Amino acid sequence: MISGAGIAGLTAALAFAAKGFSVAIFDKTPRLSDVGAGLQLAPNATRLLARLGVLERLMAHAVIPDALYLQNGTSGETLLRMALGDAAEARWNAPYLVCHRADLQAALVAAVSEHPDITLSLGSNVVSHRADQDGATVQIDAGDRIEEHRGALLLGCDGVWSTRRSAGEHRPGAAFTGHIAWRASLPRAALPQAFENLLPEGNSVSAWLGRGVHFIAYPVRAGKSFNFVAITKGRDPGREWSSQGDSIALSAAFSGWHRAIHDVIRAAEQWTFWPLFQIAHPHFTLSERVVLLGDAAHAMTPFAAQGAAMAIEDACALAAALSGEETGWPASLARFNRARLTRIASVTRRGLLNRFAYHAAGPFALGRNMLLRSRPPERFLADLDWLYGYDGTGFGPVEVGAAIPPSALPGISPTRGEIG
Ligand SMILES: Cc1cc2nc3c(=O)[nH]c(=O)nc-3n(C[C@H](O)[C@H](O)[C@H](O)COP(=O)(O)OP(=O)(O)OC[C@H]3O[C@@H](n4cnc5c(N)ncnc54)[C@H](O)[C@@H]3O)c2cc1C
Repeated sequence: MISGAGIAGLTAALAFAAKGFSVAIFDKTPRLSDVGAGLQLAPNATRLLARLGVLERLMAHAVIPDALYLQNGTSGETLLRMALGDAAEARWNAPYLVCHRADLQAALVAAVSEHPDITLSLGSNVVSHRADQDGATVQIDAGDRIEEHRGALLLGCDGVWSTRRSAGEHRPGAAFTGHIAWRASLPRAALPQAFENLLPEGNSVSAWLGRGVHFIAYPVRAGKSFNFVAITKGRDPGREWSSQGDSIALSAAFSGWHRAIHDVIRAAEQWTFWPLFQIAHPHFTLSERVVLLGDAAHAMTPFAAQGAAMAIEDACALAAALSGEETGWPASLARFNRARLTRIASVTRRGLLNRFAYHAAGPFALGRNMLLRSRPPERFLADLDWLYGYDGTGFGPVEVGAAIPPSALPGISPTRGEIG
């Protein structure tokens, strides 16, 4: 059973089904809408999506950028051009792409809907669970009734404010990081001229850097639309998510920046405001039968652009770990836990390094700019081999038709029983 049909939950459903399990996903939302904005999907994630048969579906809506540019936010000067496109695919054997989160979710849902061993129930709020040695039982509030389901395993994929994480034993939740992400998009045809002039040739991911803030732009929706993310400092707004932002306040945070960035801030009127939360102490296993994945386990800041990628890795790693005999699950879970905590810690450190470099001021910014201008771009690519070249989930290629029959494995077979 899976609580949450976000990136972690849907990927986990496909990965477990590929290993022969029957899977039931529950999501509290009545309709999976266009929530979220752009995502960069690095090769460590696209490699796994390809194995699950999702990448092909996604490609129709995604864009493969030719390069990543780091630029000076005030002058617009290019500090570094790092080739992606064919260079990334040749180096890491999988594409680096950019897409809208809704397009990724739709590609995952399409694959889930076609799988005979997966059911997806919307409008199903997982309100409680209990676990014993043989499995877990969940209570679902389905609006007009309460349902109870039982399975061999419960995966809590319910996001940064996971109620599975906070259920029972007290665990610290996600904490505000002091940063706000402002997100907006514009049709490609509506980009202000000054911004068009500032953009590098071709399709790219562009990041403009400055004191305490940065601004990112890349194409999504098969290139028809442009996605913008501005990161600024901000006050703790409480548990608020994706509300309307004020573009005048955003412009003020970029005071002194290149005119083209201000033109975009004005042109894209609908800025949504995402306070950034993170989980300081990642935690996967609540018990041998209840495991957290994705943001529920380790919400992280977007400075390394790896939150969704980590959710995808978690899901595939767990499915691979638990594809053996049920008696071996405790040892497999312990190995999964160690490997994933190490990986998440490395990615979190990379995010901190990026934040320091992107937001540097004074002499640190001068040093950063010198380094970005003078170091061969090839060396920056090599620095990312451990991250983008990672293939350590143990989740190998899925052979179509070769899935182990559900009866041969300890499956997740929900039993329905209405109570209340
Ligand atoms: C500004 C910003 C930029 C980002 N950029 C990138 C990027 O470039 N690349 C990248 O890889 N990542 C990026 N991320 C991170 C990425 O978006 C998240 O890490 C990822 O979406 C987490 O997926 P998830 O499935 O864990 O959680 P979610 O996507 O939040 O899904 C959780 C699901 O659980 C459901 N749910 C919640 N409670 C319940 C319940 N009680 N019962 C049933 N269902 C429930 C919700 O309805 C939801 O559908 C970015 C994040 C932000 C904020």
